Amino acid sequence: MKIICIGRNYAKHIEELANEKPEHPVVFLKPDSAILPKKNPFFIPPFSNDVHYEVEVLIKINKVGKHIDSKFAHKYYDEVGLGIDFTARDIQQKCKEKGLPWEKAKAFDGSAIIGEFYTKQEFDLENLKFQLYKNEEIVQDGNTNAMLWKTDELISYVSQYFTLKKGDIIFTGTPKGVGPIAIGNKLEAFIENEKLLEVENLISESQIESELWRVSYSPYQDVQQLNERP
Ligand code: MG
Repeated sequence: MKIICIGRNYAKHIEELANEKPEHPVVFLKPDSAILPKKNPFFIPPFSNDVHYEVEVLIKINKVGKHIDSKFAHKYYDEVGLGIDFTARDIQQKCKEKGLPWEKAKAFDGSAIIGEFYTKQEFDLENLKFQLYKNEEIVQDGNTNAMLWKTDELISYVSQYFTLKKGDIIFTGTPKGVGPIAIGNKLEAFIENEKLLEVENLISESQIESELWRVSYSPYQDVQQLNERP
């Protein structure tokens, strides 16, 4: 399976990072090794001093497709979830300045946090409120109605380049409010008051040397299971 991520899909997030509004969706990939399995701890990678959270609505592809017309795109997913696109912002900034690819900043091990999925009928994907709380304070408060490109347009666009396969996941972009994580933080993500994801640092300040993070509400126990999932 692969993870296809969309960048710059919310105007206010584009403003907060002083980016240019793109003419087409910004697309990048994460490998399946980026997914943090439920039982594994999360470590802030040693190569970054500025790892940011980005909460995003996810959709899971349910069948193979290529060159999908946006009016048929809804047939290619049944499930919706939430995830966090962890980003080494300092590394990304250097890559951006030099016009280099972002993978070192975006696709490192543990950089994709994937929460539980729900059937799409449970939500109105065109008008879906979602939030991220850090240490019980709201930091991101988004609504899919502010997306520059809607889910079906994104599926159509990315399928011009990549064959979509069953089990692939699309991260649809983050709203404004991105910011750094630190030891001791707890992140909780909600759709319409339903908690779909929790990432928690288990270790106190006095035990910093063995910094550990726990992911709850994730369907993924291990990477093998990932590839076996229907
Ligand atoms: Mg993102």
